[in-house]
Amino acid sequence: MWDLMLTGIYVIPQVLKIVNENWGYKNRRGNPMTRSNMYEMFSHPFYYGYFQYSGIWYKGKHEPMVTKEEWDKVQALIHRPNVPHLTSEEFLFIDLLKCDKCKFAITGTRKIKNYKRTKRKATYTYYHCTHKNKIINCDEKPITESKLKDQFIKILEYVDIDEDFKDWAKQYFHELNEYESKNVIDINSSVKKSISDIDIKLSTLLDLMLSQSISKDEYDKKRHNLLVEKSSLEQKLNKSSDWFPKANKVVDTAHDIKAKFIEKSIDEKRLLIRSVGSNFFLDSGLVRPELEKPYFILSDAKINPEKYLGRLEPVDYPYLSAQTIEIAKLNPTWLPREDSNF
Ligand SMILES: [Zn+2]
Repeated sequence: MWDLMLTGIYVIPQVLKIVNENWGYKNRRGNPMTRSNMYEMFSHPFYYGYFQYSGIWYKGKHEPMVTKEEWDKVQALIHRPNVPHLTSEEFLFIDLLKCDKCKFAITGTRKIKNYKRTKRKATYTYYHCTHKNKIINCDEKPITESKLKDQFIKILEYVDIDEDFKDWAKQYFHELNEYESKNVIDINSSVKKSISDIDIKLSTLLDLMLSQSISKDEYDKKRHNLLVEKSSLEQKLNKSSDWFPKANKVVDTAHDIKAKFIEKSIDEKRLLIRSVGSNFFLDSGLVRPELEKPYFILSDAKINPEKYLGRLEPVDYPYLSAQTIEIAKLNPTWLPREDSNF
């Protein structure tokens, strides 16, 4: 469910339909999920690992289903203003672009043109600014779907990596991850020690309260402080290496992305666009993407290879190595020291 929502291409009623009809979801009473159940579920911090106890949020012991970042993204998606939602089967670029001049959504229109002389029918799809901005008098002109498609193909071409680079990058990530894991073990064991010290303090505190050496109020206050401390230590413990799956996902997505975009279904095309960038602006007929950092680096290195020269260089792919490091740096907590010399 979270994965569906995170794609950004489905709205709640669509996810609801998939969950109930395709997956056959039933709750304990045998009822399908309702719309409000689903809103409630997607809004609950439990899913990124938190639970509430006497009005305070604590980090739970359960394995979070999503990261806080993903959870925030879903909040933005489920609370986004109601853009007129046309089905994605019909319009490839709907909900994907914003007008750069007035920041309003770019929507799609389809026109069927009848050619009387040849009795031919042709369908044209246009995208245009909704011109809803009352202050700015926007003059952004409509653009055809095929022109937009060409531009998106160009954007993805810059992000695209070949098989050799993908293999090399994965090997590289693997080695870095192994190296990092060894260091993490040492850090983790000291954090675990601090956590178990807190557990001892908690149990001592309880004894003190039960033997009436301290008041209930004092107990609550001290216990709260210890739990907060424990929770922050536990976060340190879990934070370690989520860059590794993320970095692998980036190279899998970028590999052959142009060909995938051309061949795949409309839904999958939209998914590919969404995975490389969160914002796309239409500016005087030109698409200006705001790519996610690792995809930006891939693209930038192809456009400005000179910027990336002189960084770590493997034999076969001189211009690609620096990008790999940047992708691996998805997790800002690692590599800061190695980073300093370039
Ligand atoms: Zn506009």
